[in-house]
Amino acid sequence: MDLKNIIFIFVFILSVGFFVYSLNKFYEYMTVGLKKDDRFDRVSNRLYRVWKIAFAQTKLLRDPKAGILHLVIFWGFILFLFAVAEAIIQGFYSPFSLQFAGPIFSAITLIQDVFGLLVIIAVLYALYRRFVIHVPRLEVGKSGKFDAAFILILIMMVCVSMFGQNMASLANRGFEIEAWEVRPISLAFAPIFFKSGSGISAVFYEIFWWMHIVVVFVFMNFLPYSKHFHVITSIPNTFFARLDPLRNIIQPLNLEDESVEVFGAVDIEQFSWKQILDGYSCTECGRCTAACPANIVGKTLSPRKIIVDIRKRTVDKAPLIVDRKDDPVLFDKTLVHNYISDKELWQCTTCMACVQECPVMIEHLDSIIDMRRNLVLTESEFPASLNPVFKSIENNFTPWAFNQNDRAQWAEGMNIKTMAQDAEADILFWVGCAGSFDNRYKKVTQAFATLMQKANVNFRILGTEEKCNGDTARRLGNEYLAQMMMKENVEVLNGYGVKKIVTACPHCFHSLGNEYKQFGGNYEVVHHSQFIEQLLSDGKIQLKDEANSSKVTYHDSCYLGRYNGVYDAPRNLLNNAKGVELIEMERNKSRGFCCGAGGGRMFLEDEEGGRINEERTREALSTNADTIASACPFCMTMMTDGVKYFNKQEEVAVKDIAEIILENSK
Ligand code: SF4
Ligand code: SF4
Repeated sequence: MDLKNIIFIFVFILSVGFFVYSLNKFYEYMTVGLKKDDRFDRVSNRLYRVWKIAFAQTKLLRDPKAGILHLVIFWGFILFLFAVAEAIIQGFYSPFSLQFAGPIFSAITLIQDVFGLLVIIAVLYALYRRFVIHVPRLEVGKSGKFDAAFILILIMMVCVSMFGQNMASLANRGFEIEAWEVRPISLAFAPIFFKSGSGISAVFYEIFWWMHIVVVFVFMNFLPYSKHFHVITSIPNTFFARLDPLRNIIQPLNLEDESVEVFGAVDIEQFSWKQILDGYSCTECGRCTAACPANIVGKTLSPRKIIVDIRKRTVDKAPLIVDRKDDPVLFDKTLVHNYISDKELWQCTTCMACVQECPVMIEHLDSIIDMRRNLVLTESEFPASLNPVFKSIENNFTPWAFNQNDRAQWAEGMNIKTMAQDAEADILFWVGCAGSFDNRYKKVTQAFATLMQKANVNFRILGTEEKCNGDTARRLGNEYLAQMMMKENVEVLNGYGVKKIVTACPHCFHSLGNEYKQFGGNYEVVHHSQFIEQLLSDGKIQLKDEANSSKVTYHDSCYLGRYNGVYDAPRNLLNNAKGVELIEMERNKSRGFCCGAGGGRMFLEDEEGGRINEERTREALSTNADTIASACPFCMTMMTDGVKYFNKQEEVAVKDIAEIILENSK
């Protein structure tokens, strides 16, 4: 062992020791979040998803340009770990080489050489995008810029020092390649920088070797204190993200727990360790904010800021909690109000575009809903316009001030039975509040019921026994009211032994199908688009052979599409209808743009920025379609208002897919 090895061992122990210390601190900060959250089930499914999202980077590749760039940097980084491992072992034992691995060594050296160059190009391009052309979603504050530049330069230095080492080593050997070594790029450039066998190349080999080691150790220890900590946390975050294909199934609150002082979350202590991990996993790439409809129309809400604020608050407060220190000013503040304003939280439409786009599987909505729950249930701090909504749900079982006795008025004269009259049915038609009371949407309800009658479907309705499904209250943070509605509905549904439900409302569809299980309601729930598609394919509904031609653009409902993956059924229906030419809007399917009504936004004023429905209607009108098709009562209202705003109601109709199929049926 010579002096070099002794110095290396000293540096190694110092670096690894500090890194372990930082990781341990980080673990302690995560435990500050006290909400229970078990994410250790179905390990093999989780590992498979890590492979798909983290290693194959399928989410990032949705944006091919940036995706390929990131894929190259990521895999280059992984392959460099071999070079790093080799260099570290050489620190303990200088003559060490991976050469003994034979052909595997050939593959490693070749890939390192090629990827080394690609990573240098990718880093230069990333610097160019961030600092020369200023890609908007990458714009961050000063410290964020420093962070990004520093880390990119470190990555480049890892590659440069690796090439330096390889070229100097080749020069030391008279540019002779060793057995199994394949380094075409190093070999091509080495003679440009070094003369064969000169003592200088030996000195430079040592310089580059130390540079490589020092840069790697600096990189490793800088990570836990930078936003690039995601290099370490994003893979665990992907592993621990919810497994359900349907994300954002809201978890119930135990409202009976009398020891609870805060319902929902006002600060990091009320979050789970996973929500804190989300904060540390954010790369600040801005994909979520670039897709956020509220942000796009100029509102303050930015899902990236929400997650970064959770991290900021954790960085500020968690060390004090862990070290049992006091700081009255800091403890006087809370995450909600002082870092994240109430206004931001109320601007969310729960469209889930942010969750869909996030490459590291961050669950923005869980945190937003938790913070809304605190505002409503603990602080009673919510916009005044929600007062009548909550009151109405409680008293009239619908968010609007309608009389529950009128719930089945739409069915008068249609010869439709309720479950109370005759429970011998194949399927229950869950009408929903808009379908029962909204004058425009009652026509959709009637159209769908007529289609079912034409197809001889043996269906029933609940009539006055049906109550609001609870979705609006739940997404607005009023879990108390939501649970009340859900439990009462489950009691009625289970009382009749209901097994299968069809509904035209995606919010009812999501709630009944995915969240009622939490309260003992297990039903097979289908959306009317899927149900009509089945009736068509079974030949129970016949379509006309001739029809007037019509250009139709279909607007995806978030709760049908992103939440439940139903993209094809409505499109298949439209494609089946004679004379219909389906024109897609630019933002469609999983990239569909919200109508602005979800998450209770239907009942809130737009006090800041533009209107989301107008932005979406503008896009729909730009297709020159004469009909905007929707499959959701909220979307229909918002798009109809949008068409009126642009004064296009004479030229453009807004119709539900059930109406279009009924018009086209024999
Ligand atoms: S759910 Fe939609 S509206 Fe809410 S923060 Fe995410 S992208 Fe924005
Ligand atoms: S939350 Fe996800 S999508 Fe948004 S900035 Fe962070 S990493 Fe990017």
